Amino acid sequence: MTIESPLEKSPVSLFTDASSRLEMALKYVNISEDALKRLKYPKASLSVSIPVRMDNGSLQVFQGYRVRYDDTRGPGKGGVRFHPNVSLDEVQSLAFWMTFKCALLNLPFGGAKGGITLNPKALSRQELERLSRGYIDAIADFIGPDIDILAPDVYTNSMIMGWMMDQYSIIQRQVSPAVVTGKPLMMGGSQGRNTATATGAYYVINTILPKFDQLPERTTVAIQGFGKVGAVLAELLCKAGYKVVAVSDSQGGIYAETGLDIPNIRRYKQQSQSIQELYCNDTVCDIVEHEIISNEDLLKLDVDVLIPAALENQITAANAEQIQAQYIFEVANGPTTSAADPILEDKGIYVFPDILVNAGGVTVSYFEWVQNRSGLYWTLEEVHQRLKERMVEETEQTWNVAQEFSIPMRTAAYVHGLHRLGEALDAKGTRDYYQNGNH
Ligand code: NAD
Repeated sequence: MTIESPLEKSPVSLFTDASSRLEMALKYVNISEDALKRLKYPKASLSVSIPVRMDNGSLQVFQGYRVRYDDTRGPGKGGVRFHPNVSLDEVQSLAFWMTFKCALLNLPFGGAKGGITLNPKALSRQELERLSRGYIDAIADFIGPDIDILAPDVYTNSMIMGWMMDQYSIIQRQVSPAVVTGKPLMMGGSQGRNTATATGAYYVINTILPKFDQLPERTTVAIQGFGKVGAVLAELLCKAGYKVVAVSDSQGGIYAETGLDIPNIRRYKQQSQSIQELYCNDTVCDIVEHEIISNEDLLKLDVDVLIPAALENQITAANAEQIQAQYIFEVANGPTTSAADPILEDKGIYVFPDILVNAGGVTVSYFEWVQNRSGLYWTLEEVHQRLKERMVEETEQTWNVAQEFSIPMRTAAYVHGLHRLGEALDAKGTRDYYQNGNH
């Protein structure tokens, strides 16, 4: 994937753009040159073709990927995405972000990611199951509970994670729940995993906004993306008294100045396919006056808080100037390009980065992995309490780094994560390489 915009200097790969954030952090952290060199490249990348027998008897071959970016701090950890835009470049970028996210949250994991290039809506449930199992057949030697652990991402869910875990167990001839997180509860999933990313983001928002004396009842919110994370976060914010005035999905969005009835929208969305359709064809339409808006319009709304919760590259140099929100909480991975960052900063907009805001998902994935390995399962209250402790602690620490160096929260998050990664890389010593011939 390349980032194209008339204002972006030249099309750059998503990975080049992602790794440029590392450069920004270097000034503020003492990391050895060797450790830095290691972090500039993914440790291992696998491309596979997955033959699938379709329901009509034909054979279709899909392209899949798994990238383990770094495993210095523990086994690779990262989701699997099903989307037409999945490419090796995108998967590498997502694996890079996972590396820093796990370090930032102090989880004993490295970073990884996987994906298959397809439109999942065009496949039947049986075809999706055959594809998911085929993917595991293709990457089985590359993953494992102590090597690289899978999880859900865009257009994958707990049902798909269950199939993947089952297929891996069949290949290993032993039940191996810890190779995949985000599984159904009955297959060793954790309480609270389905809502973990949204809940984690909610804890970050509630830790940050009071620092600006921004009270929920005086805060308007727009959310792009109404999926597993965006919809749950919208409801949590609504219940806490925030005024969610706009939401959107891949087909467009809706806006109501007086606030949207999020629980009703969620209920209808589960029956219908698109937010716009349900809003106009069902009774929710009558509840509040609303406007139909495009995804592009949503980003430019005059709101206090903007939450991109869909895909990457939504806020670019082309539209950053028109963003009016005061605070951006990045729930999606990579929604803001590096060229947009300085424009937002000049406008005085605070950006809270993806690797912090959406880290609740991988944190509860870690809890699930711990529960699978210990065989002792936690209550929802225990999960929420531990999640809250960790999210608040690391948000405060990142905030302190930002204050200490007077740097944006994104740079502070990379400084904080890089510090831990650098220490781990240096602690491994020089067994692998010898400097300047000094053996
Ligand atoms: P999802 O597939 O459940 O939802 C994605 C949503 O985005 C859907 O509502 C879809 O209609 C919408 N969408 C797609 N293209 C869009 C567009 N161009 N404009 C507006 N909306 C669009 O995915 P999810 O799990 O909710 O993930 C959303 C984002 O959060 C992704 O960037 C993902 O990497 C990130 N994330 C997810 C998790 C997790 O636990 N699921 C964890 C960390 C980060």
